[in-house]
Amino acid sequence: MKVLVIGGGAREHVIASTLKRDGAAVYAVMKNLNPGIKRIAEEYLIHDENDGEKIAEYATRKGIELVVIGPEAPEGKGVTNALLKKGIKVASPTKEAAEIETNKEFMRNLMDKYGIKGSVKSRAFSDVELAKEFIEMLDGNVAVKPIGLTGGKGVRVAGDHLKSIEEAIEYAREVIEKGIGGAHRVLIEEKVVGEEFTLQAFCDGKAIYPMPAVQDHKRLLPDDKGPNTGGMGSYSHHSGILPFMSMDDYEIATNILQKVVDALRMEGREYHGVIYGQFMLTADGPRVIEINARFGDPEAMNVLPLLKSNFVEICEGMADGDLSNNQIDFDAKSTVCKYVVPNGYGINPKEGIEIEVDEEGIKDEGALLFYASVNEKDGKIYTTRSRSLAVVGIAYEIEDAEKITENALKHVKGDVFIRHDIGKKELIEKRINHMKMLRGE
Ligand code: AMP
Repeated sequence: MKVLVIGGGAREHVIASTLKRDGAAVYAVMKNLNPGIKRIAEEYLIHDENDGEKIAEYATRKGIELVVIGPEAPEGKGVTNALLKKGIKVASPTKEAAEIETNKEFMRNLMDKYGIKGSVKSRAFSDVELAKEFIEMLDGNVAVKPIGLTGGKGVRVAGDHLKSIEEAIEYAREVIEKGIGGAHRVLIEEKVVGEEFTLQAFCDGKAIYPMPAVQDHKRLLPDDKGPNTGGMGSYSHHSGILPFMSMDDYEIATNILQKVVDALRMEGREYHGVIYGQFMLTADGPRVIEINARFGDPEAMNVLPLLKSNFVEICEGMADGDLSNNQIDFDAKSTVCKYVVPNGYGINPKEGIEIEVDEEGIKDEGALLFYASVNEKDGKIYTTRSRSLAVVGIAYEIEDAEKITENALKHVKGDVFIRHDIGKKELIEKRINHMKMLRGE
């Protein structure tokens, strides 16, 4: 089957390689030339990933039978809709269904309208004075968010990035006045405290089929310091849940995602594709921080290498609207993924610097390598302003997976930065103790 993958990051590299593993002839549309995808693909087109017309025309010309969209932006721009119009199947949501991610106000309103538990107090404002009143009413314990997409970098949280009520109000003003995220409007949410986890699921429009839970690390620096980034790395546990959570927590989160999908269907926005819930596990259970309309990046790299079932068939089932006959199984193993980023990433990244990647060395350590935003010239790899590549170790225990990842990372050299603490025992124990403390154990 000819399958087209849209996007050129590490998430799309793992999507493409899993599709190929399971028998697909992979085609790609990406704005940058990802060296990993380049090798997998039968053919590729370097083009704007948001250009639905051009992508639909390319897909028709190449006889593409199924499309998988990696990033959220093309979904928001209606690339799925353009492909469906030409009669091409898509295993990703339409613009209307993807609004669950592209419009945070819509997501909160939908949860409220359908009485879905696990949301947080929130309100959206176009008027700074009203936003100020709401921030004061919540005593400054807030998260201030642009309504639209900011690549995970537009959110500021009290006590973290915002040191006072005044700073929260100031940032709300900035979001409204500058139109950060595409709208002159700001979402103010109650701040919730706990441990974050990601739950991704396959969805055929009706039912969801959850994958192992993952914990991402959004903060740039060790010990969760510094600014938010696209994600510095992530881990998962062989049990399918995380060391600080219970099976009940996992089931509650799964139920919330199912109810969101039900609500979308009732609104005439049937959801096909991977749905992603970012949850904060609080003392009172999981609360929704964000819902995304796609795989997470890095989280895709934790789950897809563990998928034992045929991914091409799953994508077809999602697109066709019926996964009920698909067996969906994952290997019971732990994974640790760490991103390599240019030094200065998130602030003033060193762009155009060569990184030496010994692919054979990484393979010999038993680790997986996924390329992200790099340029390849004459067989050499150069950094851009974004994340460069990710390395994934897999083993029964997290500790062993982490060692595989670290050993493999020795085969990457250059002016780069890595959060070495991800997946290490100390950090995981800290999470477990944090949760125990919050639950009063
Ligand atoms: P987002 O872009 O919505 O995923 O938010 C980025 C980060 O901000 C999340 O990973 C959380 O750590 C934090 N955050 C967002 N919303 C809240 C909230 N309501 N309470 C506490 N932390 C939050």
